[in-house]
Amino acid sequence: MDGFNTRAIHAGQEPDPLTGAVVPPIYQVSTYAQDGVGGLRGGYEYSRSGNPTRTALEECLASLEAPEDADARALAFASGLAAEDTLIRTITAPGSHAVIPNDAYGGTYRLFAKVAAPWGVEHTPADVTDPQAIAAAIRPGQTKLVWIETPTNPLLNVADIAAIADVAHDAGAVLVVDNTFASPYLQQPLLLGADVVVHSTTKYLGGHSDVIGGALIVRDSELGQQLAFHQNAMGAVPGPFDSWLVLRGIKTLGIRMDRHSDNARAVVDFLTDHPAVSQVLWPGLPSHPGHEVAVRQMRDFGGMVSFRVAGGEQAAVDICGRTDVFTLGESLGGVESLIEHPGRMTHASAAGSPLEVPADLVRLSVGIEDAHDLIADLDKALA
Ligand SMILES: *Cc1c(COP(=O)(O)O)cnc(C)c1O
Repeated sequence: MDGFNTRAIHAGQEPDPLTGAVVPPIYQVSTYAQDGVGGLRGGYEYSRSGNPTRTALEECLASLEAPEDADARALAFASGLAAEDTLIRTITAPGSHAVIPNDAYGGTYRLFAKVAAPWGVEHTPADVTDPQAIAAAIRPGQTKLVWIETPTNPLLNVADIAAIADVAHDAGAVLVVDNTFASPYLQQPLLLGADVVVHSTTKYLGGHSDVIGGALIVRDSELGQQLAFHQNAMGAVPGPFDSWLVLRGIKTLGIRMDRHSDNARAVVDFLTDHPAVSQVLWPGLPSHPGHEVAVRQMRDFGGMVSFRVAGGEQAAVDICGRTDVFTLGESLGGVESLIEHPGRMTHASAAGSPLEVPADLVRLSVGIEDAHDLIADLDKALA
């Protein structure tokens, strides 16, 4: 099974040995009968520690991010932030330091600033487009974690994963890549030298705006064991039905990402020529400063597009209220197109911080509807 789509559909998902069901059942159960004390039938004792539906999801995720690697391990969580919290508390301790992106996902920034910092872990925001800036932010001996996203949210900056892996490893730090925006179909950070991949499976992996979930994927078996210990000890696991929804979404990830990318390309073409738009941010544009790196490390450029509005903040807010096919809302990565104003919505909590975003910015999560309907909708909203 070496094709991505074949693995997405089959990895971790043998037909049920008892009934032949071709899709893993939803094992909606908390505990498992034992044949005598310690006599586990299928290795399961309690669903916080392990559940067969969750195992199917975890095996599939490991296969997507690290194909053919027997040591690779994925762990599923109740949300992306639950995965991040478990990871931070596995790799850092009070007194340690992390480098984070200067335009990180707002919730990641809040987790470092309001939860990890009071616990004793300091952080420095750095420009992920510049490996030298990351190197300069590292505190030798104290920095345990270098955390990047690529492309970033909402500015769609691109980080050179392989170059930053070298910088992190030279300092003895672990490189974490939040791969939520690209998904494993477009980019596989573990194969470029990253140590940990983080996902909000809420987004492209689930893909249908109907579930909250998260995941961590690693190739080092010892780190995998430590994370699995914390997954059980901290307990932020997804339920069987949520695991099943994500697994179901993953089956169509490849074709969805192809369509998201194609539709984004069409929308970008339209926006680039529009007089009401002052700048379009998408890594697929040859003029994008990260384009060359994106070509090297991504299969295509994804469905996230941001643009700046010539008329300023109020004009940007007004555009967000004038679309019909694009739904005004937070989140991203579902089949339906979404529009939002990061400054007042997803990134409102970053106001006044180093992560503040431009007030005239609009962010699109371009869905998989017909491109001409999306363009007509934007044309009307920009008029
Ligand atoms: C949504 C998101 C998260 C957080 O995930 P939740 O599932 O909402 O907890 C983390 N990183 C990125 C890039 C995201 O878009």
